[in-house]
Amino acid sequence: MSQQHVVLNRTGDKMPLVGFGTWKVQSDQAEDVIYDAIKVGYRLIDDACDYGNEQAVGKGIARAIKEGIVKREDLFVVTKLWNTYHSKDHVQEAFNRQLKDLGLDYIDLYLIHFPVPLKYVPLDKAYPPGWYQSEQATKVEYERSPIHECWREMEKLVDSGKVRNIGVSNFNVQSMLDLFTYCKYKPATLQIEIHPYLPQKRLVEWVTSHDVHITAYSSFGPVSYEDLTDDGRKAKPLLQHDTIKSIANKKGKDPGQILLRWAIQRGIAVIPKSTHVERMKTNHDLFSWELTDEENKELDKLSQGLRFNNPDSYGFDLPLFA
Ligand code: NAD
Repeated sequence: MSQQHVVLNRTGDKMPLVGFGTWKVQSDQAEDVIYDAIKVGYRLIDDACDYGNEQAVGKGIARAIKEGIVKREDLFVVTKLWNTYHSKDHVQEAFNRQLKDLGLDYIDLYLIHFPVPLKYVPLDKAYPPGWYQSEQATKVEYERSPIHECWREMEKLVDSGKVRNIGVSNFNVQSMLDLFTYCKYKPATLQIEIHPYLPQKRLVEWVTSHDVHITAYSSFGPVSYEDLTDDGRKAKPLLQHDTIKSIANKKGKDPGQILLRWAIQRGIAVIPKSTHVERMKTNHDLFSWELTDEENKELDKLSQGLRFNNPDSYGFDLPLFA
């Protein structure tokens, strides 16, 4: 894989294979972190309403543009529609708030974050509202908002010129297949959890055969989930796994680079997150070397269907991936 981008269906836009993730980048740090990431060379920024940091991320982008490090058109900004805004009455309102917070006049790729319509929470009541819709709530509250209506609103955003590409996240084959039956614009990408413990090979093969590109999140496995209730955290951290460490030592790379290269070598985009400039640099340095077939075979042996981002395991009574 010498190409550093993939070409998206419909628009032909080039999406960088290595982007920068912003989940858990705190608002008081995000401006500097994003500015640093752009300075290091990241051109894709992956954000979401739910991360609660879009204003600060927008400031980091604005600073990098103001200082002439990049132009807006050099960047590929991704963000996501939160579950409480799936209704056809609220998609535009939610999107416009995000666009304003980011300080941009268009988004390169807008994703439905989860195929989970939750009860609407007015923006002035709680923002972002998260999974629970009130402090007292102990159960998620669903809403009867079909994805086909939500997708139609996403398509309207494309028609308005405010969004260049639309896509989905955390969808499975059934939900993709359904979407294909009515969409005017096919999703450009599917963003899902992928790492050697959960390679999702068949899902990736099937989805890419339909001209939809895959982005992997949580490439380092359990690292971001240590504070969440999840049985998976008992698994050995991937970054410390003997197989990963030994391949890394042999190649003079660090374990994080091995995990990221493993994905991009399959044509899968990655969006690692780090607040440290040195790690930002190594996580971005993935194109001047490659894994051998033998090394890939070793990594394939780690597959064990182990998922870390699972609403069910956070106590939400939602076995989304069952
Ligand atoms: P990640 O796999 O990128 O891990 C991030 C953590 O790994 C960092 O906090 C840091 O502690 C550590 N780290 C980073 N570089 C390292 C290195 N080189 N060596 C050792 N440790 C290192 O985790 P993630 O944040 O879960 O996923 C990446 C991005 O994917 C997110 O920031 C977000 O943008 C996106 N995401 C999307 C969804 C979704 O539902 N669509 C879910 C989770 C994450």
